[in-house]
Amino acid sequence: MSPETGRDCAAPLVEARGLTKHYPVSTGFFSREKLVVRALEDVALDIRAGETLGVVGESGCGKSTLGRCLLRLIEPTAGEVRFDGRDVLALPAAELRRMRRAMQIIFQDPYASLNPRMRVGAIVAEGIEVHGLARGVEKRRRVEELLHQVGLGPEHADRYPHEFSGGQRQRIGIARALAVGPRFIVADEPVSALDLSIQAQVLNLLMDLQEQMGLAYLFISHDLRVVEHISHRVAVMYLGRIVERAPRALLYANPRHPYTRALLAAVPVADPRHRPKRTPLQGDVPSPLQPPSGCAFHPRCPYVEPRCRTEVPALIAGAGGHAVACHVFPAPTE
Ligand code: ADP
Repeated sequence: MSPETGRDCAAPLVEARGLTKHYPVSTGFFSREKLVVRALEDVALDIRAGETLGVVGESGCGKSTLGRCLLRLIEPTAGEVRFDGRDVLALPAAELRRMRRAMQIIFQDPYASLNPRMRVGAIVAEGIEVHGLARGVEKRRRVEELLHQVGLGPEHADRYPHEFSGGQRQRIGIARALAVGPRFIVADEPVSALDLSIQAQVLNLLMDLQEQMGLAYLFISHDLRVVEHISHRVAVMYLGRIVERAPRALLYANPRHPYTRALLAAVPVADPRHRPKRTPLQGDVPSPLQPPSGCAFHPRCPYVEPRCRTEVPALIAGAGGHAVACHVFPAPTE
């Protein structure tokens, strides 16, 4: 039991069920036809304190939409989100604001998300002020402590974002997120804009912070290598749905879904003799305005069978927490 909340410590911190987001779009100025982008379809997930769930998939698969729906930065069309057992989608505005302290987001492009006219100290202090967490000397001390936690010095507080490198700016973004004492962070492609050597440093920082504070992460990336480095479990998304989910080691050693296998085949390897013999992906992701019938991956799948064209495969769990949504390659049973 948690002494703070009275909840079972093994219970997930974040839970989503049936999470769905459809964006209505019109086809033209004079057109009355209404179409919907099916960005997220019936997604279920759990994340525990201290755990990282990596979410991977090609661009447009709904990863960002998922992260934003969990934080209620956008309103889902349907479904349920629970944080620490509380129904996030039913919270009135004032309570949602309070809960936002516990649920933060880190963005891909730290430069675009940091106000160029504000000094770093003020950027990091903003959340502390908004939530009335500290004032005066105490606030200043807290900002210095946060900068230290992310590997920056107190002298950096008086500088502007443009004076920093990409990696340092991402550290500022992380300090800003940490300032309000979160328990869950959505990290949306946080290292994609950084050089390879800097990526590792920022990933290691996120992992250290997780260990120190027991943070839960939803870590979004299109890069399987990055996701492998940081995640405890990985969910693979395709056209708004989770098509495979497994503990990291299982997913990378024994990928089942043809989409996951194709993504892994596309990952560059240092030694070509160890290149996996798997068919890389053909064609582009279809439009979520008119997703293919049945399994949305079927037009690109080399193993397609007749029922794949008509029946949406359910995400079914097998042994070891490995779940797959595929008619042809279900999750292993032992
Ligand atoms: P990812 O993060 O995997 O790249 P997104 O969640 O950003 O995917 O987008 C999923 C789909 O939803 C894409 O087809 C995208 O074009 C569409 N989409 C995202 N935001 C909007 C919006 N505000 N209005 C209409 N369509 C949107």
